[in-house]
Amino acid sequence: MGIMVQNLSKDFGDFNALKNINFTIEQGEFAALLGPSGCGKTTLLRMIAGLEATMAGEIYFDQQNVTHQSAQLRDIGFVFQNYALFRHMTVAKNIAFGLRIKASVFKRDSLTINRRVKELLELVQLETLADRYPDQLSGGQRQRVALARALATKPKVLLLDEPFSALDAKVRKDLRRWLRNFHHDINVTSIFVTHDQEEALEVADKIILMNQGKIEQIGTPEQVYKKPQTAFVAHFLGDVNLLHGYIERNQLHIGDFKQDMSTQGSWADQVTIAYVRPHEIAVFKSLSLRHDSNGSSGQLVAKIMRLHTAGPTVFLELSLAHQPKPIDVSIPFSQYQQNHFMVGDIVYLQPLLLNIFVQDEL
Ligand code: ATP
Repeated sequence: MGIMVQNLSKDFGDFNALKNINFTIEQGEFAALLGPSGCGKTTLLRMIAGLEATMAGEIYFDQQNVTHQSAQLRDIGFVFQNYALFRHMTVAKNIAFGLRIKASVFKRDSLTINRRVKELLELVQLETLADRYPDQLSGGQRQRVALARALATKPKVLLLDEPFSALDAKVRKDLRRWLRNFHHDINVTSIFVTHDQEEALEVADKIILMNQGKIEQIGTPEQVYKKPQTAFVAHFLGDVNLLHGYIERNQLHIGDFKQDMSTQGSWADQVTIAYVRPHEIAVFKSLSLRHDSNGSSGQLVAKIMRLHTAGPTVFLELSLAHQPKPIDVSIPFSQYQQNHFMVGDIVYLQPLLLNIFVQDEL
């Protein structure tokens, strides 16, 4: 089922929690609602579920307007942050719970319910744990039971509110990989709330990035990571360096480095700020007068202020002339060894590709 949200807003008293939210999610898509704590993700998810009343705007499931439909009629499976399993019921009974409530409606008998529970246990790979109680399970297993329970009635939409937040880092990582594959198999339109950018980038087909009740950007993980439209998005998705410069005749100038911007449109001459991620900068020991195929030339002169050599990646803190702040660059350990970089060295930098914010709000 496809989901469309149009002009959705929500106030709590005089606090404007959601401001004119618009997006669509296609049938079978896995979307992440991503943003910092308090930006309105859970409120939005609860509105889609029908657990929170809308104040303005509309929600459509396929072509049907469900804005004022009750939660029970929306055909949704919900997985909460804190498992919310019944402690006095076994795994099998927890999963069967929703089915039994609906049994009278669908005229399902015990045999049909048991068959479905078995099917779901296989789906979440917990066949051997059917008779255990929630207290006898690990956090990751409990969340898989919650997922099976949410899917028991074959919902058309699956909503997950920070499903991994109570788990430790290692389990969390395993489970999100597992969820990615699992979603691929079940192909149910799903929305996943998280404040963890790594999680969203790894799991989702589409990221809806929010900040202070508004959408900052919507796109695939690659689009939002590589082409952030605002400084907020760039910073939220990982470390980023900002470089002050200017554009003149469609050429971006940062110190002695120049990059042709004409492939990215036509630009007015202007002072600007470009951004580049730490691993997208090549570092050379000596100046080379190379021209790159992407239309860039020249190099930035920098001085190594600090070096951090633990692990496979070496982090350099570099100061540049005419830039207000030092920048961070990461290079593979092998490259560091070959060049014998040391604190105090002068080095030459070549950003692989500089981008500038389209929808600027620096
Ligand atoms: P988190 O990641 O911390 O769960 P979130 O992005 O999910 O945050 P929401 O829970 O949607 O954020 O809350 C958005 C804002 O609305 C917050 O500032 C919160 O304090 C406020 N809020 C949420 N529910 C209510 C309520 N019932 N009454 C008043 N304010 C509320």
